[in-house]
Amino acid sequence: MVSGSGVFSSKAEGKMAAAESDRNASSALCTEFVNFSARDTASRWLAANNLQQEVYHHLAEYVPRILCLGLSGGSREEQREELACQLLLFAPLEWLLLGEDPSTGLVPLQKKNLSSPLCGHVFKVGEPTYSCRECAADPTCVLCMQCFLSSMHKDHRYRMTTSGGGGFCDCGDAEAWKMGPYCQNHTPVGSSKATEEDPVAQLHPDMVARGYSIFSIILKYAVDMLTWDQENQLPAGLEPLEKADSYYCMLFNDEVHTYEQVIYTLQKAVNCSQKEAVAFATTVDRDGRKCVRYGDFQFCDQAKSVIVRNTSRQSKPLRVHVMHSSVVAHQCFALKALSWLGQIIQYSDGLRRILCQVCLQRIPGREDSSLIDCLMLNDSKMWKGARNTYHQLLMNSLLMDLKYKKIFAIQFAKNYRRLQTDYMEDDHDRLVSVTSLSVQLFTVPTMARMLMVEENLMTTIIRTFVDHLRHRDPQGRFQFDRYTAQQAFKFGRVQSLIGDLKYVLISPPPEWSDQLRNKFLEGFDAFLDLLKCMQGMDPVMRQVGQHIEMEPEWEAAFTLQMKLTHIIYMIQEWCSTDELVLIQAYKKCLSALSHCLGGLPDGDQPISLSLAGHSVDTFRYQVSQEKVSIHLPVCRLLAGLHVLLSRTEVASRVPEQLPLSELCPHLLIELPLRCLVLCAQVHAGMWRRNGFSLINQIYYYHNVKCRVEMFDKDIVMLQAGASMMDPNHFLMIVLSRFELFHIFSSTDIRKRYREANKDLVQQNTLIEEMLHLIIMIVGERYVVGVGQVEPLDEVRREIIHQLSIRPMAHSELVKALPENGNKETGLERVIDSVASFKKPGVTGRGLYELRPEWNKHFNLYYHHYSRADQSKAEEAQRKLRRQNGEDTALPPPLPPPLCPLFASLVNLLQCDVLLAVQGAVLQWAVEPSGGSWTESMLQRVLHLVGMALLEEQHQLENSSTDDDVTFNYASRITRQHTHTHTRPGEAPSTSGSVLALLESLQNTPHLEAHKDMITWILKMVGSIKTIRERTSSTSSITISLGQGLGETVRDKDKAERKRKAEMARLRREKIMAQMSEMQKHFISENKELFQQSMEELEASSSAAEYSSHSSELTCTSQVCVGPWRMGRSERRQLVVCILCQEEQDVRGHGRAMVLAAFIQRSTVLSKNRSRNLPVPEHYNPLFMHPDLSLGIHTASCGHIMHATCWQRYFEAVQLKEQRRQQRLRVHTSYDVENGEFLCPLCECLSNTVIPLLPHASPPDHSVEHPSLEAWLKTTNQQIAVLHSAHRKQSDGASGWVEPVAPKGFKVTFTPQSPFSNSISEMINTFSMSAYKVGLKVDPNEQDPRVPVLSWSTCAYTIQSIENLLMDEKKPLFGSLPCRQDDCLSSLTRFSAACWTSAPLTTVHAHFIRLLSVLVPDSQVEDAPCILSVDMFHLLVYGVLSYSSLHCLEQSGRSSVDSGHLHLLQLITVAHLVQILLTSTTEDQSMDEDTEVSEEQELTCQLYRSLSQHLGSVLPEVSSGWQLWSCVKAAIMPFLRTAALFFHYLNSAVPPADLMVEGPGQWEALCSYLSLPSNLLLLHQDHHTLLEPLIHRWCCHPGVRQNLQGGGVIVRFPRESNRLINLPEDYSVLINQASSFTCPRSGGDKSRAPTLCLVCGSMLCSQSYCCQMEVEGEDVGACTAHTFTCGAGIGLFLRVRESQVLFVAGKTKGCFYPPPYLDDYGETDQGLKRGNPLHLCLERYRKIERLWRQHGIAEVIGHAQEANQTLVAIDWQHL
Ligand SMILES: [Zn+2]
Ligand SMILES: [Zn+2]
Ligand SMILES: [Zn+2]
Ligand SMILES: [Zn+2]
Ligand SMILES: [Zn+2]
Ligand SMILES: [Zn+2]
Ligand SMILES: [Zn+2]
Repeated sequence: MVSGSGVFSSKAEGKMAAAESDRNASSALCTEFVNFSARDTASRWLAANNLQQEVYHHLAEYVPRILCLGLSGGSREEQREELACQLLLFAPLEWLLLGEDPSTGLVPLQKKNLSSPLCGHVFKVGEPTYSCRECAADPTCVLCMQCFLSSMHKDHRYRMTTSGGGGFCDCGDAEAWKMGPYCQNHTPVGSSKATEEDPVAQLHPDMVARGYSIFSIILKYAVDMLTWDQENQLPAGLEPLEKADSYYCMLFNDEVHTYEQVIYTLQKAVNCSQKEAVAFATTVDRDGRKCVRYGDFQFCDQAKSVIVRNTSRQSKPLRVHVMHSSVVAHQCFALKALSWLGQIIQYSDGLRRILCQVCLQRIPGREDSSLIDCLMLNDSKMWKGARNTYHQLLMNSLLMDLKYKKIFAIQFAKNYRRLQTDYMEDDHDRLVSVTSLSVQLFTVPTMARMLMVEENLMTTIIRTFVDHLRHRDPQGRFQFDRYTAQQAFKFGRVQSLIGDLKYVLISPPPEWSDQLRNKFLEGFDAFLDLLKCMQGMDPVMRQVGQHIEMEPEWEAAFTLQMKLTHIIYMIQEWCSTDELVLIQAYKKCLSALSHCLGGLPDGDQPISLSLAGHSVDTFRYQVSQEKVSIHLPVCRLLAGLHVLLSRTEVASRVPEQLPLSELCPHLLIELPLRCLVLCAQVHAGMWRRNGFSLINQIYYYHNVKCRVEMFDKDIVMLQAGASMMDPNHFLMIVLSRFELFHIFSSTDIRKRYREANKDLVQQNTLIEEMLHLIIMIVGERYVVGVGQVEPLDEVRREIIHQLSIRPMAHSELVKALPENGNKETGLERVIDSVASFKKPGVTGRGLYELRPEWNKHFNLYYHHYSRADQSKAEEAQRKLRRQNGEDTALPPPLPPPLCPLFASLVNLLQCDVLLAVQGAVLQWAVEPSGGSWTESMLQRVLHLVGMALLEEQHQLENSSTDDDVTFNYASRITRQHTHTHTRPGEAPSTSGSVLALLESLQNTPHLEAHKDMITWILKMVGSIKTIRERTSSTSSITISLGQGLGETVRDKDKAERKRKAEMARLRREKIMAQMSEMQKHFISENKELFQQSMEELEASSSAAEYSSHSSELTCTSQVCVGPWRMGRSERRQLVVCILCQEEQDVRGHGRAMVLAAFIQRSTVLSKNRSRNLPVPEHYNPLFMHPDLSLGIHTASCGHIMHATCWQRYFEAVQLKEQRRQQRLRVHTSYDVENGEFLCPLCECLSNTVIPLLPHASPPDHSVEHPSLEAWLKTTNQQIAVLHSAHRKQSDGASGWVEPVAPKGFKVTFTPQSPFSNSISEMINTFSMSAYKVGLKVDPNEQDPRVPVLSWSTCAYTIQSIENLLMDEKKPLFGSLPCRQDDCLSSLTRFSAACWTSAPLTTVHAHFIRLLSVLVPDSQVEDAPCILSVDMFHLLVYGVLSYSSLHCLEQSGRSSVDSGHLHLLQLITVAHLVQILLTSTTEDQSMDEDTEVSEEQELTCQLYRSLSQHLGSVLPEVSSGWQLWSCVKAAIMPFLRTAALFFHYLNSAVPPADLMVEGPGQWEALCSYLSLPSNLLLLHQDHHTLLEPLIHRWCCHPGVRQNLQGGGVIVRFPRESNRLINLPEDYSVLINQASSFTCPRSGGDKSRAPTLCLVCGSMLCSQSYCCQMEVEGEDVGACTAHTFTCGAGIGLFLRVRESQVLFVAGKTKGCFYPPPYLDDYGETDQGLKRGNPLHLCLERYRKIERLWRQHGIAEVIGHAQEANQTLVAIDWQHL
């Protein structure tokens, strides 16, 4: 034991000693500061013969003494280090370089500097970047915000994204932009010749020489140190003079361990606090390493072993080294030196060039290596900070110099394979790997081509990629299914190579050299090798009997396919630009395919098929019984190239160079056909036992992300094959692969539905699928090269078909279109030609709607429709046609003509086999279905017939001679089949001709749905016949005639329908007109009756409720307060319980009824957000400060329940919740433990209930009404009695003079509770809720503050509602929704009653204190000054607590109403004074021509008297007019809130004038409140009483202090709070956020900058660095902020996500659509699309209204109810 403690103490001593010596060292350094001369040092170096030795010596001496002297990371320490480095280390280097004082020497250099034409601004994480969609050469070309704003592109279609960090602005790079490469700031000024000159020649030769040597030495030093791997030793020449025993324990970053693990481990290992551990972990994550302990070797080594031990359990341990302090110091200095180099070259392009040369100089003795090579090749071994620093230097030097950028690119390409291999082994982000520089080098097209030619880059990339995917099956194909996690990780990283390949291929060359051709074709070979490894991978085999045991891995293969899709597309693009390349590539691809197909024809004997008089040989193969693969990239590439042959017309111009004759069409079609059959069989349900993986693969095969290079190309391949074959042969093979041949070849087709075939449904689906495939093969001609179309036609057609389903938003359309390499869909260029745009409202998004003239292009069998799309589109189109009064046939649209290479495809439509198939299906359809055929089948056949007829009509109309017409479908379907019976497999003759069948089907009742289509077909046949007859007789004129005839037949038909529709419409309109006429008549006759019923209708809204009263009472003035108030005529208040549906009377002694309600703290009205929230224990809420910094708001959905019913409901909810939590461990959207529940009717979030109480009884008009003076006197006496009674109680002894009690005032009287037990209980419930929520404390019924909080929520809620009404310019009464009206009404009546459940003495004490603000009371200490009291709150509390005093008055001679009125008057005067004291001083020189009114005069008088009391503190005000108008505006909110309060308190009917907006409000308001409309008369009339009071108010020391600048002065009227102003352009916000740094971790970029919409603070959200402790729990910056800024409620804008965030408390939150929209009326949550976003004010106002209405918590509640995943988010970490 002893030895143990001894070891420990020695360690501690060691540490102490080290610290001690450092302190000595640093003080010694200080003296050297003074004596050190950089100039002398520099000249000494200059004289030396070995400069490097001298400099190293200097560094060896100083570096360890300046840098890394301990663990502290304080900013002062850093500054000191910085300064010392500059003075002692860099200054001499600068002297040496410049030969003079750096401060003067740099100026001339800078003058001569030709700044790089490149902007080169390096992007920070999260900074906005802009790309022009019209001019950028590729999407990687971006501009910084400054360049963008001064470029031409800001008026183009641009795209905005946030940078992931790294990368730089491409402004000034002529190759990056098709147009406008320079912004205004970077437009080159000098002649272009200047840039050609060698900038080094501009420098003095001596300086050049010195520059070379200094840069070489420093760079070499930095490279040595950064690549140094010894922990305890330094390179030669740098060894310190004396080596102390001081070490660091250095912790390195990895991507395996989590933050939590590292923090936990550090706390254990180095014994630090959690906070320090978080700081360490953050730095490790940011810089890649951090010293976590400093001391002697043992001390550090101990920490190391703890860390290693603690982190090695599940994974490879954290990397920790114990390093000697001098090594660490030199490494730190090396980083600083690199930064220094980066800075010094900014002064001069000459110096920059010199550094470039030094960087790339061959190292003597290592011929093929330079210093930069050393760095690159050690990249993966360096820590993050080191990598970032030297990458930054690369960007500032080599990448800024166009000449050296090329040389560097070559070195980079030479090292490419090695760098990528290192990167695979490294676990850091790609962003911090040197390999990520490829984007800077390869995306420059000339550079990319140069590297392709000189370094064979394309081949290198592809071969490297293939080498890294080592798992192969015996056939050499990729095999991903047995990947370990490690291999999967590597697979993820290796994909970045595809990205590099994409960069290289981004733009096809404008011209080809022979070398480029050779190298490209070499690369193409490599690419084919890659595709060969994919051809046939992941084969599947139909599972029969048993379900597969394990879902096979399929995603990796599809990921690869998806990644390669763009590459394949680009390779084809390259091929299309050069004939020679295309031909060679085609040949290579063909031979690769033959190689893949090598095994195919072998095996079994071919089988021979015959049908309809034709026969063909084919393989014996069945998809349902043998292996089949979806991956056929070689086939598909060949299909793509085949189309190119057609598109570029190479096939027709130089057919002799093509190996077309070598093509065996049977082989070409085989694999794609198998794949399509597989899809059909999966649809038919034949592969159910193969599980989901197959379904997913089929899904992706058709999905927009893959289909271009999968499904689409398979169709093309079938088209190519079919156009080279006899159509009958082709169809027979298709039938055979679909395993349907036997059906159509059997001698008796009818047999099919006689035999009970159990697979009939499957077979039907297969027939449907096969017919669909034939439709696609013949009809899909919108690929350039297949059909004669333009590229945009294809896009347009896609859009038309998407919009045929339903109107769509821009982003939905974008998603439906395949992106090309430039992420462009081509959508914008055609959308406006086919669709009209409908703008969005306050919710929803803008939609595009197809214009009607494009409907005729609709094709029901559009190949990109899924089955669901198809049926939706069909329904929509039929509906549309019915609405237009047209027939519902959906005939095929006329397709574009085929290109010559594919021309013979049309023959499929009229070949014998197809006719036989059509005949068979029609034959079946004659009889009502017994499951033996389907309507879909028939529909497809009709479609095929229609296509054939269209083709024939088209040929007839467009040919000049009869010979051009090869089509005679119409006559073929007319003829009976005349084949003899002898041939085997022939269609039986018993069936009639197709035409005859159609005619007989036309009127079949069971085919009603297809009637219109059949009619259309028959008409077509008729019109074709007519054309043929005319053409055969005469010339081409008849054609147009014939066409005209055809048209007229159709037109006539259409016209007839239209006419009928029009007639119907007219008839309808007439009837309507008649009816409305009758109605008018009726109304005028029964006017009164009608009005009555209208009123009844409106009676449900609160407005109407009063209107009937007001009509009676308008003449007599209505008053809501005081002895003359009008009570509500006593009406029974009947309500219905929403839970038991029973009616109930609201009575004081009845069963309690309650309203569901939600109480929350609020800062919505706060005028002082910097005020700290009160500490609950010591906070006295009796006086609300006028800044209203924290209030309690109550809202209700207005739903009423029995208290007992509610209690039962709540208990049930509680129970359910407990069970649910035990079972699922999930939370709900509401927190039951905090009393939360959802309203059982409307699911509104609630946390308490308000009891319903009866209305106040009308006042007793018989009692006298004392004057203010008399009342005040009586009240003072009563208070004195209470004081003395209280003293007696507490002291017992009475040395005081007993005050005389007014008559009838009984101190000892105990009033009876006017309420039943159940109501009292509910009063208590709500009181406790207000108390608990308002103060954030546990319930405590004994606390005297309980009633105050009930009053408080009443006052605050009224204030906030008044504020909203005012801003929305709504009348004070009658415009509130019922739920708010009910809420305020019951809340006010409750507050008036709540004192009954508190001890009387408590309420007395409150009243006495409240009154003491106005009427000084010697017994009350430190009453607040009137400037720190909100008068409305004072009024409410005063009036509500006065009842407790008045109830002791038993004489019956006074009414409580007198007291209310006097309190109102007194407080109104106090508020007047408050307003005058704080009125603003701005002196408006308004004309005072108008007469001085009485009000103005009196206002001035009062102001003057205030000035007397206060002296010069008040400013001079000359204009009475101005003063009075200020006062009038300022007191308005008080009067309005008071009117609302007394209205609800006394259930007084409001005057009609206050139920509308308009003039006369002031007078109506004053009269309603029983106040003179000249308020100053209140002061004037009681001058003698008030003057001394006013004097006392002004003399309160607080007043003077307040006015002289002691805190925030609240002025009246208080301005309403709004959410902060947001910029119109969203990128402004992004830019703001990108320059925002985390306030905690010195200058670091924040990852999730989040803007508080309430106060405008920017926060560092969702990050460890800014977590704070709130109520004993660590929470994120947003949650912490809500506690101060919004009292628990927060509204934020997450800038980088473009998302609004609502937070309530710690556990609740939701996302809300942001108020920013793009030009298409859509939000971009997540900023994925990058369209420019602009502020939509209406939406922002909507959010603001939500906030001001205190609706945020409710929105969150609803969102969480609707979406349970929101509940699981840890909102408190945001
Ligand atoms: Zn720029
Ligand atoms: Zn620029
Ligand atoms: Zn542009
Ligand atoms: Zn009930
Ligand atoms: Zn409700
Ligand atoms: Zn805020
Ligand atoms: Zn932070």
